[in-house]
Amino acid sequence: MNQRLHALTNLANKFEEKTIENTTKITSIFAENVFTLKTAREYLNEVAYKSLKNSVNNGKKIDIESAGQIAVGMKSWAEEKGVTHYTHWFQPLTGTTAEKHDSFFTLKSDGSAIEEFDGAALIQQEPDASSFPSGGLRATFEARGYTAWDPSSPAFIIDNGFGKTLCIPTIFISYNGESLDYKAPLLKSIDFLNKAAVDVCSFFDKNVTKVIATLGWEQEYFVIDAGLCSARPDIIQCGRTVLGAAPAKGQQLEDFYFGSIPSRVYSFMLDFENEAYKLGIPLKTRHNEVAPGQYECAPIFEEVNLAVDHNLVLMDLMARIARRHNLKVLFHEKPFAGINGSGKHNNWSLATDTGINLLSPGKTPKSNLMFLTFFVNVIKAVHDYAEILRTSIASAGNDYRLGANEAPPAIISVFLGKYLSKLLKDLESKASNQLDDQDDTIHKLDIHKNIPLVILDNTDRNRTSPFAFTGNKFEFRAVGSSANCSYPMMVLNTIVAETLSKFYEEVNQKIEKGDKKELAILQTIQSYIKASKNVIFEGDGYSHNWHDEAEKRGLPNVKSTPAALEIMKRDSVKDLFSKHNILSHNELEARYEIELEKYIKKVQIEGRIMGDLCLNHVIPQAIKYQNIVLENVEGLKRLGIEHQEQIKLLEELSLNIGKVKNNVFNMVEARKSANHTENLTLKAQQYEDIKNTYFDVIRYHTDKLEGLVDDQLWDLPKYRELLLLR
Ligand code: ADP
Ligand code: MG
Repeated sequence: MNQRLHALTNLANKFEEKTIENTTKITSIFAENVFTLKTAREYLNEVAYKSLKNSVNNGKKIDIESAGQIAVGMKSWAEEKGVTHYTHWFQPLTGTTAEKHDSFFTLKSDGSAIEEFDGAALIQQEPDASSFPSGGLRATFEARGYTAWDPSSPAFIIDNGFGKTLCIPTIFISYNGESLDYKAPLLKSIDFLNKAAVDVCSFFDKNVTKVIATLGWEQEYFVIDAGLCSARPDIIQCGRTVLGAAPAKGQQLEDFYFGSIPSRVYSFMLDFENEAYKLGIPLKTRHNEVAPGQYECAPIFEEVNLAVDHNLVLMDLMARIARRHNLKVLFHEKPFAGINGSGKHNNWSLATDTGINLLSPGKTPKSNLMFLTFFVNVIKAVHDYAEILRTSIASAGNDYRLGANEAPPAIISVFLGKYLSKLLKDLESKASNQLDDQDDTIHKLDIHKNIPLVILDNTDRNRTSPFAFTGNKFEFRAVGSSANCSYPMMVLNTIVAETLSKFYEEVNQKIEKGDKKELAILQTIQSYIKASKNVIFEGDGYSHNWHDEAEKRGLPNVKSTPAALEIMKRDSVKDLFSKHNILSHNELEARYEIELEKYIKKVQIEGRIMGDLCLNHVIPQAIKYQNIVLENVEGLKRLGIEHQEQIKLLEELSLNIGKVKNNVFNMVEARKSANHTENLTLKAQQYEDIKNTYFDVIRYHTDKLEGLVDDQLWDLPKYRELLLLR
């Protein structure tokens, strides 16, 4: 029996319906494994507690003495929970998370054993960093990278079933302080945004002293049987299928979306949700997605840095818990051809320390104007920096998804909804003397009367837009499901902050010239609407017409990762990030290299595994089957029985075997030649060509063979088996 049939038999035998019982109240376990400020209060003295609180809330530095106190408190809390080790948890540019465990255990000079964790160990660690990507920033011989504590994201305990580890969120930097991770630039962008937004808030409300970005991500993923998965080397190595014919029943009946969740998956969900609650991840929704085998979960939104960490912890958690259920969770953007891919919608907004959501339309003319200001500034930012946003979501995986018929196109546009797009049009067309009386203008625009209705009216949704306003937040939908949200959020924070600071200056210049404040604001808003209206698109982003129209409008349509990454090399882009100390020229260049290398390696691995599957699975099976038919033909011939159709079958098999063999050979040659290319940019383009030239053709012919060869011989689990897990 081949591995596929074996896995299928197991599947049929092992999993009967089990009743699922879950009576745990979420509030009773929520954040029990997190060193929250509330917990800190119990374990720290007054000085240390205040110092930690001040750092979390106001970004103040923690002195080494307080850090020592905090370390001791954290250690006692963790030890009471059975923790023996600690780790600095960080986000290297590989795209996953990393940790290096150290035990609290140590030996004193007299040889006695004690458990110890001091301030220095909390604040900084030096992992052996030589094998993390650094894009030439950190010479490998030096191999020194440091992790440094990020107190704004609380420490937490991971229990992997074998032991418990205290995880301390950290940034990862080189010896010279250059960032080698995703977190450091995100934190810097948060600072910049805070400053720029507080300035603009001062036009409306002097009580605002802090503005944070909020993020609520929606994580899409596939779940398949782990046994079947282990018979698919492509899923194991690339996270996606590189071959596989479409099933008779895919998503065409559209009966999966919000359908009932299969019980095996349901019990997996309950399990990971419980673990997530203990880690303070505020999961709120779960449901089936459009494709068979596809699901989504989403939390209550949080401050962006924390939300990013929580998403990463959750992805790890889900992968780990899936194993307990003999399931495999796939975060890849396009695990299955011809079936919807997965994204990670990033819902983003701005919140003040006075409790106001700046993207929530207010109820009074004054708060309306504040809303309009931030609303229009975001649109302007997306318009002016669309290409940078595009680079922030570029990855080999997302290339398969963007622009496929279920995901937003690679053209960045903004959807506002009928009501608000009309409102902006009205405002744009007003003559400047009509703007004079701002109260009157706002009344006439009916802003405060009608806007709150927009929030209630969720029918006005456009799922085809990459960047949509959804009542009280923007939803960046083009982010890939496997991505670290950090990068797109860092870019969004930065471009909005940059736009807001220019806005602040412009309005102030007008005020200095003697304009009334409100008028100056309205006029600037109006000019921003004019300047950025091209990026507003209310129609169907999936349609072909949109591609033509976007081109006429002059909107960029950057179709592939290598092209998108090129944008990072522009001086204007480098200057934007370096001006605000978010990424230096060097750091951005390093990132460019790392992302490009990641792309090359991903395509390379996919190509290799594809060749491997063809030569070692598909072709041998097809030949085996061909021999059976051949024998049959010889027998029929001997007896003088009609066998034309069998001959045709033999020919068809031969033809497809030949095509597969031939294309694989050519693909290997093309890879060999690309591997000799020194220049990374060129090499990435060559790999993109290889992907475009060979992947679909090879797949076409292997899928034909899958349709011809005896099912009993075929050893790669088929789409219908992988997807229709019940
Ligand atoms: P959808 O209809 O797109 O599935 P949901 O209503 O499920 O949207 O919510 C999507 C996400 O938006 C949730 O994660 C939620 O926490 C988040 N969200 C809501 N308000 C905000 C906000 N002010 N800032 C950031 N995210 C928010
Ligand atoms: Mg959504």
